[in-house]
Amino acid sequence: MSHPELVIRKAVWKGEEVDLLVADGKILDVIPSSDAMYEGAEVVAARGLLLMPSFTDVHTHLREPGFEYKEDIASGLKAAVHGGFSNIMCMANTDPVNDNAVVTDEMLRRAKTAFPEGGPRLFPIGALTKGLAGEELSPMHEMAEAGCAAFSNDGLPIKNSELFRRAMEYGSDTGKPIIDHCEDPYLAPAVGVNEGEVSSVLGLGAQPDVAEAAQVARDLLMAEYLDMHIHLAHISCRKSVDLIAWAKKRRVKVTAETCPHYLLLTEEALHGYNSDTKVNPPLRTADDVEALLAGIKDGTIDMFATDHAPHAAHEKEVEFMNAPCGISGLDSALSLTWSLVADGKITFETFVRMWTTAPCETFDLPLNSFKKGDPADFFLFDPSDEWVLNSKNMHSKGKNTPFRGQTLKGRVISHFLSGKKIV
Ligand SMILES: [Zn+2]
Repeated sequence: MSHPELVIRKAVWKGEEVDLLVADGKILDVIPSSDAMYEGAEVVAARGLLLMPSFTDVHTHLREPGFEYKEDIASGLKAAVHGGFSNIMCMANTDPVNDNAVVTDEMLRRAKTAFPEGGPRLFPIGALTKGLAGEELSPMHEMAEAGCAAFSNDGLPIKNSELFRRAMEYGSDTGKPIIDHCEDPYLAPAVGVNEGEVSSVLGLGAQPDVAEAAQVARDLLMAEYLDMHIHLAHISCRKSVDLIAWAKKRRVKVTAETCPHYLLLTEEALHGYNSDTKVNPPLRTADDVEALLAGIKDGTIDMFATDHAPHAAHEKEVEFMNAPCGISGLDSALSLTWSLVADGKITFETFVRMWTTAPCETFDLPLNSFKKGDPADFFLFDPSDEWVLNSKNMHSKGKNTPFRGQTLKGRVISHFLSGKKIV
């Protein structure tokens, strides 16, 4: 056995007290806890702390280039690593849009500058079409080569089904998944409000859940027809869950994500016109939340994602109808989804799978499953630590979250990437 350089002592992994041994930035072994001496190794006492593999977030908006006042790559990655994430996939709606290898290269260069000694890994998502305009396909091959992990037209889904078909065919040659934000824009503009009782009481323009589900249906049929994989972003409603379950029974190659806020909030949160509750797709009903949780349990919904969408205070502090959509999610996603475990709504195994194995296998990203030779990416988590989410303890520049002021339970105590302590 080669010699460990780092030993995490008496941490809890899958209910057992273990010692984690790290050598050369990789997992050397996970063994039942002992008091063995390891000469020359750094020993970290971790009694009472949970050992977790670093998380992967397949859907963030880091705003750089172009909107650095909302977030930049450095601040986004900092929030990520404090929040428990090692792999971050960032969307293409920057300025300029990430629709060519020059922008991709520049994003990766800035990530490296932010953490020159190694840190959270950035995996840009390339635009499917030039300028996200939905007219001309972008050069996906050169972008895949430059390091894009997937392609998506982000919040401007391709309306033209024929072009979408070509995008899937062309994209599949690169071996990178296509991600679709499912929304039929003809069924009402994206206003961040669910059409229903609450929207009529509040007198707000709204979009029905069928706007999402109609496009989910199109994508599923297309994926089946072409026999190609499609990944569906931030699923929010029962109709979509039902459609995905139907497609999975037919062995359609589909994966899907949902976000913490769709599991913990409903449209009722919009009473009071707090623009931090405005998100696209909108917060839905209690029935939708129930369907999403059931979908997570039976495997219809594969993974979590934050849809981290930071905005500046002055942009959100306007009349509800004029505020942009989005929640700043990287700082709180882990604690929020941990509450689902603490409340018995999902199991620990599901929690870990939805933030690690499922996204890494779907997008072919580095994964630590605590097997020998895996990258030593892990964090120590105190499940009993209570903290209040506020503007000061958020590392993201975006403080826009409806969970601000809320007491959260469970916190990242330290985070190691390739065996090096980053937090
Ligand atoms: Zn989206």
